[in-house]
Amino acid sequence: MSDMRYSELAELYRRLEKTTLKTLKTKFVADFLKKTPDELLEIVPYLILGKVFPDWDERELGVGEKLLIKAVSMATGVPEREIENSVRDTGDLGESVALALKKKKQRSFFSQPLTIKRVYDTLVKVAEAAGEGSQDRKMKYLANLFMDAEAEEGKYLARTVLGTMRTGVAEGLMRDAIAEAFRVKAELVERAYMLTSDFGYVAKVAKLEGNEGLSRVRIQVGKPIRPMLAQNAANVKEALIEMGGKAAFEIKYDGARVQVHRDGDRVVVYSRRLENVTKSIPDVVSAILESIKVEKAIVEGELVAVGEEGKPRPFQYVLRRFRRKYNIEEMVEKIPLELNLFDVLYVDGEALIDTPFAERRKKLEEIIAQSERIKLAEQLVTDNAEEAEKFYQRALELGHEGLMAKRLDSTYEPGNRGKKWLKIKPTMEDLDLVIIGAEWGEGRRAHLLGSFLVAAYDPHSGEFVPVGKVGSGFTDEDLVEFTKMLKPLITGGEGKYVEIEPKVVIQVTYQEIQKSPKYKSGFALRFPRYVALREDKSPEEADTIERIAQLYELQERFKAKR
Ligand code: ATP
Repeated sequence: MSDMRYSELAELYRRLEKTTLKTLKTKFVADFLKKTPDELLEIVPYLILGKVFPDWDERELGVGEKLLIKAVSMATGVPEREIENSVRDTGDLGESVALALKKKKQRSFFSQPLTIKRVYDTLVKVAEAAGEGSQDRKMKYLANLFMDAEAEEGKYLARTVLGTMRTGVAEGLMRDAIAEAFRVKAELVERAYMLTSDFGYVAKVAKLEGNEGLSRVRIQVGKPIRPMLAQNAANVKEALIEMGGKAAFEIKYDGARVQVHRDGDRVVVYSRRLENVTKSIPDVVSAILESIKVEKAIVEGELVAVGEEGKPRPFQYVLRRFRRKYNIEEMVEKIPLELNLFDVLYVDGEALIDTPFAERRKKLEEIIAQSERIKLAEQLVTDNAEEAEKFYQRALELGHEGLMAKRLDSTYEPGNRGKKWLKIKPTMEDLDLVIIGAEWGEGRRAHLLGSFLVAAYDPHSGEFVPVGKVGSGFTDEDLVEFTKMLKPLITGGEGKYVEIEPKVVIQVTYQEIQKSPKYKSGFALRFPRYVALREDKSPEEADTIERIAQLYELQERFKAKR
């Protein structure tokens, strides 16, 4: 038997929703993976995560609430208006879909129970429908599924389609579940996932080839690798000492990190969060094709928006380019981009992540022909602190963020934030914090969320600990946008205050960090002010509570010096 009833998956979602215990959730997922037939193993992990495709897959369903309601209405005969009203009552589209399905007069004579494969194949068709009449086709494909769905199945199907499944299964849990299901080592699952970002593939290897197969997993052109990250250094000197007296210093460009995969004529560009942004930057893609001198390669760099006289513009400009779906050419003119390459991970059949950084850099220089749009990150290899300090000052004067210091002998560690890369930036930098609560405004702004409780991440407990309330720095449009974005994430609250699921990261500036008993973190920001939305960061990538403590120390030391 190579297929499985979709109702079994719905039952898994239901059980996952019922418990908050991680061990239990892991067990449920592991048990499910164990009974998943090989043919489905590449898609089931994503469905369990509430997705159809990995984030880096270009395909999107492109279905909003309205279209979904239309499909359900068509399948059940319940008028759209009635479903919309019901959503207002239940506050949950999934619930309302289930209610509509229960109302359905009768099952058609030809009704076929849903299977996982059928659901998946149909959703692929939904994603791939493009061009004239595609909205209508998407709707009909979906209606077809809802026609044969039981109430419970419909509920989760709706959540999958809209990307609102909240069963508390995240990447870490999936990793542990794969390890548990196939009795393989969690570290090896993690490693394979960091190298390929593909749970479907990793689950299959784990099942069919065990630990040995997992340890044989290599990076592949076309599958994004988790980016290696950096820790902070207080200054250039400290960085030099940490690196053993000599290091490669590079300008830390303030843009968006990208990973470029080239395979012949095909170029795919992934963002830092491994989203496929290729289509939004055709100018960069063609420049890359001209600059990379080999057929197959994976390189990394920082994509920067350039303004007048070649000066860097804030990174938000690059994100505006990424977001643009239509009239892309217009944006190409408005916001020219420059790619500063700083690493190479693969060249013509050879993975380079275990090659020392100094050699990787040499290889990068060999395979790249620099051009107006494609450059190599400016680098200074030195053991001289003064020289490095001069380089740092020059970087700041040119409007860059600071410097990166890299160990010359370091291998590339996917997904790791270690000490082999250090970043050096002026202190009192802005913080990236997660919104975990908000308050409704007053009077004219009563329908808008106004003040936001923001939190730092605590990697030890996995919790988000509040450090302040941000109410200023927002334009009216910002507030409208934030209200729209956060409303579906409201999980509870009292009076004017609402609790918000930690999903959205914002950059916050402030005057000072204070010690304060007001929050559990022990710190509070003085005069926090909103700067920008950090769509490029996941909540776990927000600044940590340790970073805040560190900044507090630096601030106090600085005060003492004055
Ligand atoms: P920040 O908010 O300070 O950018 P981050 O959490 O986004 O930090 P870090 O690991 O702290 O990322 O810093 C490394 C980031 O700096 C890289 O992800 C990349 O986007 C950027 N960067 C700019 N120039 C370079 C460079 N020459 N080498 C490596 N990374 C660089």
